[in-house]
Amino acid sequence: MKRGKIIIISGPSGSGKTTLYKKLLKSLKFKKKLVKSVSVTTREKRKGEIEGRDYFFVSKKMFFYKKKAGHFLESQPVFDNFYGTPKKNVRDLLKRGKNVLLCIDVKGAKVVAQQFKSAVKVFIKTENWEELKKRLQARGSDDERSMRLRLKIAKDELKEQSMYDHIIINSNLNKAFSELTQIIKEEISFEDESCNA
Ligand code: 5GP
Repeated sequence: MKRGKIIIISGPSGSGKTTLYKKLLKSLKFKKKLVKSVSVTTREKRKGEIEGRDYFFVSKKMFFYKKKAGHFLESQPVFDNFYGTPKKNVRDLLKRGKNVLLCIDVKGAKVVAQQFKSAVKVFIKTENWEELKKRLQARGSDDERSMRLRLKIAKDELKEQSMYDHIIINSNLNKAFSELTQIIKEEISFEDESCNA
């Protein structure tokens, strides 16, 4: 059986990457071919999130226990919390021929890309800086300190976009989604023609 590929999606907070990858996972075209890797995090569960579907929510103590035990392919502090990609799960899925979607930050993406040279790296961003600021403000979920932190991190992430294989400007969700599906079809189609259906 052919091994699957890793597909990494990154982008600043407010770029719409989560909406895009969720839409991707729901897409019938990719249902059998794409699996999301569920990360481990120390952050609080948000309303509507489900343990094991969105994240594995753990204490800081448990996170560092897992990290020490070599449980993660990569792990990073993001905002005020820690996030890690489970190693065994990703490896098992790849062996079973599944393509694994990682929605992770730029620092984590670098670590994964070093280990998996065939990983496909996609960066999602807004049309410009003003748009990103507007989207983050419209969310209204952050206090001033968090907002400043998100903007600072966004600036750092944007500086790293050239390491990605594909950059999608998400100014229109449907257009961005169609670009993303096209990229994924091209990257995995030669392994299974049924994905082109
Ligand atoms: P959120 O808490 O809003 O779901 O995610 C915050 C940020 O953490 C996002 O940029 C997301 O891509 C990133 N993230 C989620 N899981 C992981 C992971 O396992 N590793 C890394 N490096 N970043 C992650």
